[in-house]
Amino acid sequence: MSSNNPDNKLIITAAITGSRNMRDLSPHIPYTPEEIVASCLECWRAGVSIVHIHVRDPQTGLGSQELELFRRVVEPLREQTDLVLCLTTSGIAGRNLPYADRLAPLNLQPELASFDAGSINLGGGVFSNPPDFLDQAAEAMLQKGVKPEIEVFDSGMIVTALRMRDQGRLADPLHFQFVLGTPWGAPAEPKTLLHLLDMLPGDATWSIIGIGKNHLPMSVMAMAMQGHIRVGLEDNIYYSRGVLAESNAQFVERIAALAREYGRPVASPDEARAILGLAKQKNN
Ligand code: ZN
Repeated sequence: MSSNNPDNKLIITAAITGSRNMRDLSPHIPYTPEEIVASCLECWRAGVSIVHIHVRDPQTGLGSQELELFRRVVEPLREQTDLVLCLTTSGIAGRNLPYADRLAPLNLQPELASFDAGSINLGGGVFSNPPDFLDQAAEAMLQKGVKPEIEVFDSGMIVTALRMRDQGRLADPLHFQFVLGTPWGAPAEPKTLLHLLDMLPGDATWSIIGIGKNHLPMSVMAMAMQGHIRVGLEDNIYYSRGVLAESNAQFVERIAALAREYGRPVASPDEARAILGLAKQKNN
């Protein structure tokens, strides 16, 4: 158990909407900035300390990197909550937008931003994160004081992150988000997680996303292994087999209840900041 988390608190992150799952799959996916904010507020009340934010074109529901749309989510959340905000830099995975568009949300000075540490097949295309993009993203985050949330779809992405750390492009302590169980990446199995954890520096923190039906098994693994947990409609639209989740908060409530039963107190946003070594947002 790490020294900055002596009570073994559990950080719950909610990934509210992503950019891939559309309403033909689930009518409950938030599209407009107002819907995204409302879902974040529900999750906050249910025990989330971090929200992972994408925005969408309100008319079409397609993923967007429009700074103004991000602003319409970020500003109300800063006014009304103490949530830690993690803004996406993946943009629309598989559509591979210009680097500047992907990095635009950093201008809103979030405490965390996603950092996808390599390229991988995803959803019939390639989620492209070539070395020059990673260098640019890391440099922008270092300059702006935004902590990268290093998303890992396979073990080579940890190798990449550690090399960039050794080059001075990423700063310790590193924070990892494992994305397990995509049809193209590392499988969501206990032995995969053990292997990935073996590769992490001792002072790193980590959280896990089990895609789709892997959500609950991987969450339980993280609960038992001092990791943290991400839930939400970006990663999984079903609450249980064949039953759609009606909201992001429903997932949060279940993990918070499991944590209570298990005996891991859920971290408040400020406790999450302490665990992850974040400085609170200036304009919060
Ligand atoms: Zn995302």
